[in-house]
Amino acid sequence: MLSSQTIAIVKSTVPVLAEHGQNITTVFYKNLFSAHPELLNIFNHANQKQGRQQTALANTVYAAAQHIDNLAVLLPAVKQIAHKHRSLGVKAEHYPIVGAHLLGAIKEVLGDAATDDIINAWGEAYGVIADVFIQVENEMYVEAATQSNGWNEFKDFVIVDKIKESDIITSFYLKPADGSAVTTYQPGQYITVRLSIPGETYMFNRQYSLSQAPGNETFRISVKKESEMDPNGKVSCYLHNTVEIGDQIEVSAPAGDFYLNVDSSQPVTLISGGVGITPMMSMLQTISQNSPSRPVSFLHGARNMSLHAFEKEVHTLLSVMEDTTYVTQYSDNNQLITKEFLAENVLAKSDIYVCGPVPFMKAVVNSLYELGFSEENVHFEFFGPAVTLEPAHA
Ligand SMILES: Cc1cc2nc3c(=O)[nH]c(=O)nc-3n(C[C@H](O)[C@H](O)[C@H](O)COP(=O)(O)OP(=O)(O)OC[C@H]3O[C@@H](n4cnc5c(N)ncnc54)[C@H](O)[C@@H]3O)c2cc1C
Repeated sequence: MLSSQTIAIVKSTVPVLAEHGQNITTVFYKNLFSAHPELLNIFNHANQKQGRQQTALANTVYAAAQHIDNLAVLLPAVKQIAHKHRSLGVKAEHYPIVGAHLLGAIKEVLGDAATDDIINAWGEAYGVIADVFIQVENEMYVEAATQSNGWNEFKDFVIVDKIKESDIITSFYLKPADGSAVTTYQPGQYITVRLSIPGETYMFNRQYSLSQAPGNETFRISVKKESEMDPNGKVSCYLHNTVEIGDQIEVSAPAGDFYLNVDSSQPVTLISGGVGITPMMSMLQTISQNSPSRPVSFLHGARNMSLHAFEKEVHTLLSVMEDTTYVTQYSDNNQLITKEFLAENVLAKSDIYVCGPVPFMKAVVNSLYELGFSEENVHFEFFGPAVTLEPAHA
């Protein structure tokens, strides 16, 4: 239990954290990786370069400081991060290392303003916050390992098929190399793929949503080739250009809290942009196979027809369903998923699932709230560290 004095000190530093959060976490990651380069085998280097990881950590620390006397309200956010940590192999022993460097960074950035009282209070608070993560993650490790055909951390999988879905998206079908069956999972969950790329010092970890329903003989992931920006995406280009049928990659057990509520009989609205279609494919296949009378509206945004994946597969799935709406908007033709479009096409009282690029999610999710859909019914997944979705003017 934290003393009321510690709680008061931590809470009083919230405005300071809000102001310096990004600086503190940038210094933190720099010092952490220079002291512990082996942790670069776990962290996504591109997210560091772009600053998204720093922002995500700053937001978490800021939220923890605000709710230090009632961490239970943070549990959904903790679980989302813990899923990612479990899929990456983050362990209890990493927390003291992170804690020491976080306190060091607070001291370095705040200088004399970070008195011993403040540092000590934060040290205690960090311990409490870390314990919450460690406990949740331990439960997740046990669950992943003890489920039928489950495993701990990473296991070798063989690529058994590689199929082009559009000009930039290719699917990879994966089977456990040890001959076991694949685990089941929730439609919408992801796996972490871990690779060594020739010429690179550290391993690369990337999350990919499973893009078919559970219950198949394989995992399927569908990867967009990130080759339009400088530098090119490391893992997606390596998978597209180099990894072939018969090759092996390491895979974590499925993780994530963004998944279809299969027990609900409410209508479902799926809204995706670009490669954000992948978790929707798993959800749509599941509904098509298990509850084809459940009403579904599937709204997808793509740049144009040649970049639009899974069109044929979606039509096949919808053909056995009873009550469906399916609209694709091509942005090259100025067809956008606007608030008006959502007002017309989102099903009333539906469970809504959204996945796409950050600007797409900001626009869609805020429009949904403005249209009166409740936060409880709107679920979304980021294909990177979480960001806040508040409109820029808020
Ligand atoms: C839960 C989840 C599910 C996901 N599901 C999918 C999925 O189903 N399909 C899919 O395709 N992706 C998915 N992703 C995204 C995926 O994990 C990868 O982020 C994506 O494939 C890009 O990885 P990469 O290694 O190719 O690119 P990276 O090398 O990570 O680069 C990403 C971007 O960062 C930029 N960048 C890299 N280095 C620098 C630098 N030094 N300076 C400035 N910019 C830089 C690159 O230009 C590129 O645009 C998912 C992500 C999450 C978190």
